[in-house]
Formats: sequence, C-alpha cells, structure tokens
Amino acid sequence: MNLDHSYATHLGDLGALTKPLRVANPQLVEVNHTLRDALQLPASWFTQSSIMSMLFGNTSSFTTHSFAQKYGGHQFGGWNPDLGDGRGLLLGEAKDKFGKSWDLHLKGAGPTPYSRFADGRAVLRSTLREYLASEALHHMGIPTSRALCLITSDEPVYREKQEKAAMMIRVSQSHIRFGHFEYFYHNGELDKLKRLFDYCFEHHFSACLHSESPHLAMLEKVVTDTATLIAKWQAYGFNHGVMNTDNMSIHGITFDFGPYAFLDDFDPKFVCNHSDHQGRYAFEQQPGVGLWNLNALAHAFTPYLNVEQIKGELSQYEPKLMAEFSQLMRQKLGLYENTQNTAELVNRWLDLISQDKRDYHISFRLLCEIDEHGENQPLVDHFMQRDTAKMWLEHYQQALITQNVKRQERQANMRNINPEYVLRNYQAQLAIDAAQDGDFSRFRRLLQVLQHPFEGKPEYAEFAKPPPDWGKHMEISCSS
Ligand code: AMP
Ligand code: MG
Repeated sequence: MNLDHSYATHLGDLGALTKPLRVANPQLVEVNHTLRDALQLPASWFTQSSIMSMLFGNTSSFTTHSFAQKYGGHQFGGWNPDLGDGRGLLLGEAKDKFGKSWDLHLKGAGPTPYSRFADGRAVLRSTLREYLASEALHHMGIPTSRALCLITSDEPVYREKQEKAAMMIRVSQSHIRFGHFEYFYHNGELDKLKRLFDYCFEHHFSACLHSESPHLAMLEKVVTDTATLIAKWQAYGFNHGVMNTDNMSIHGITFDFGPYAFLDDFDPKFVCNHSDHQGRYAFEQQPGVGLWNLNALAHAFTPYLNVEQIKGELSQYEPKLMAEFSQLMRQKLGLYENTQNTAELVNRWLDLISQDKRDYHISFRLLCEIDEHGENQPLVDHFMQRDTAKMWLEHYQQALITQNVKRQERQANMRNINPEYVLRNYQAQLAIDAAQDGDFSRFRRLLQVLQHPFEGKPEYAEFAKPPPDWGKHMEISCSS
C-alpha cells in the first residue's frame, strides 16, 4: 500500500519537499496498534527494521513526498511570518475504512528550510508528554491529534541541558493551522491563499461547497468547532499553555502540545506555561483567546467575505461555547434540566472548589457518590468552608430529588463524564524520568490507565490520588 500525498502534490509551492534526517541509534519503542489498524496501515510497516527503512530510505511511501509546510502565526499577540514546519514533516495521508483522510506527520524529523537556527529535533521528554496527553484527551472524548508511534534515539540535543532526541508520528485530519491562512494573506500571496482554500474545500470542508458561500460556511464550521473544543477544555480542566495561532488547528482539535497541564487544585487563573509571564494563556483566558485567534484567522477570509458576514460568524462564538460548556457542566453535576437553578448550582460549585482550592477532578468524582436523601455526606468533609459546602449540598440534593431520576442511573452517567484518572504533570514526569533511564514500563502503564479514564480500578488507585506537594503546580518548561 502507498500513502496519498495530496498536499505535497497540489500545494508543492506552499512548502518544501524535505527528507527526514536519521538520528543516532533509532529504536521503535511504542506503536499505537488501535490507531494503526483504524488507519488501515500495514502492521508490517511498524517493526524496527521496516520503519527505519521507511523513514530513512529514499524511496518509501513516507519519504518520496515528505514535506515541510510553510505557515506563520500570532505568538503571544505579535505577528510572526517566520514560522513553518521547522522540525516536522508531513509524510503523507492514509485513509480509514470510511474513506476519511488522515495526515501522518513525523515530529522531530531534522532540519527543514523553516528551522531557522534550531536543530529540527524534539526531545524525548516533550515527545512523551505529547503522546500521553493526546491519548488522555482522546479517551476523554476531547478532539485532539493522536500519536501513532514513538522512536527513541541516542542523539544528543541541547535545551536547558543536554537531552536525547526522539521522534513521533502524529496523526490528525490535517496539519493546517490558522497560521497557514494568515501567512499567505499577510504576505500578499492571494493566489496561494486561494489554492489553500480550494484544497480545504476539496479535502476537508467539502460539505461547505453545497452552501451559497463556501467561505462563510467554512468560517462558521471553524468557529463552531473551536468554540466546542475550548468549552471542553474548560469543562474537563485542561490548560493548553501556548495558544498561538500557529498552534490552532482549523479542525478544532487540541494541537501542538507544549507546557500543557490538567488542573490540580482549582485556580481559574492557573498558568501552566512557565514562560507566560503575563498569564495570556491562563486557564480562564482560554475562551477569550479562542475568539482573539479566530479574529486573526478571519482576516484571511476578507478577500471572500465582507466585514458584516465575518462579524456575524464571530458573534456566534461565545453563545456556542457557552451552550456547550453549560451542557457539559450540567452533565458533570448529573442534572438533566437546563434551568436557571442549574446554572446557579454550577456557578456556586465552581466558586466553592476554587475558593477552597480543592482538586478539580477529585471534587467532581466525589459528587458522583452523593445520595440525594443522605445526611453527613463525605463531600462536606472535602471542604474547609464546611458551612458553605453544606448549604450548597442541600440545594443540590433538592435539585436531584426534584428531577426524579434513579440514583444508579444518574451516578453511572456522572462516572462516564467525570474522569477518575487524568494526566497529572507529576505522573507524566515520573514516567519521563524512568524512560530517560531506558525503562518504559511506567510510561506504558500510565498510557493504559489514561485509555480508560472513567473506570475506577483498585489496581490503578495510585493514579487517582491528588498530587503530592512536590508535584503540584510544576513549572513546565516551554523548550521542547
Ligand atoms: P512550537 O513551539 O513547537 O509550537 O514551534 C514554534 C515554531 O518553532 C515552529 O515553526 C516550529 O517548527 C519551530 N521549532 C520549534 N522547535 C524547533 C526545533 N528544535 N528546530 C527547528 N524548529 C523548531
Ligand atoms: Mg507549534
């Protein structure tokens, strides 16, 4: 079988054909078999010897058209035209059994024309973090790019200290970012911009072609998908950390993982990115940043749409995000009616856990155990502000009684939306420390746990615990 290479062949002048550069002693250490099979990729490709000849040979389906894409991006609010795949290559596209196309992209592939002065490599630490987080999000039902396989090496790379390089094949509908459109628009290359849009309509937004204005329909879809994604991040407590427009996928998926974190103690102002001194990408800022980024993207639609049309679409972002967020929160609380009372209960609950700095996920998981008729619920002991917690609980129990749903049914539904296991930064770090010493067993065990986030199991109890003090609010370096 061969991969397709539609981007490299149709849009060859929007990037550069580039071959991966071999690393010292590459070793295939992990393959996502489920994803490999879903993409109908031959198992025979994913053995140590095959994958090496596919990645570093000249005539394989991975390398005949391996391609570095050009893009720009707004980074921390400032426009940077000087970006592109500096260490990643699009290897080609595979089709799943429904005929849907998926990009295979090699991260850490070596220098490209867009590497500037950097080495074109990714470190093992950040590769493992991306692998773990993307699987965790996927299994929680949050749209994300995914990890297909991981390759380690003995190649030294220099960040704050010397580390080892690794490679990962990443899978996503496409690797087209907001920054692709922004770049060709701001660079005045409107013919290339047009061909990028045409490519998107043909390959990814074909439903929009039935609309009177395909561009308007596409903008609407990107706005909706982005709003839905960010509502999910907020509901599930995920802080992306570097929401620059070059890290925003046009498919509304979580993309380009860096110093991300899942919340521990609930602090809406939490900033996971150690280098984000202004808190631009703080947890509570994410919805607003999503809109800012869509505004930046919308400039590239101006050759096709007038200002009123664009404003009309952008004005739908907030209501769409809020509708999705309210629904998720209602479900997380096990409430079935979308009333003012529900909204108040949600808001007061979030105030309670943030004022008391309780663990975000454990608090929700405790809620699943509430007996609507019971007294002295363990939930009250979870809080320092016991009186406030008691008052809230009475109000909540009343709402549960009023809705008259069988307890078992409600609890089962709640356990399916409030994860028992999320990827804690300290757990990721323990897995990384072991892997850096050559032991991947902890990484694999964590991966297994994260692939079943909602099913509490006694043998995984350590992964459901709150972080120890040393593991809270870990400072995660941006360097990757
Ligand atoms: P990131 O921080 O991974 O989102 O990357 C931002 C930009 O820097 C993108 O254009 C990357 O391709 C580029 N980049 C990041 N790290 C490297 C590296 N080690 N070598 C070359 N380019 C890089
Ligand atoms: Mg990036």
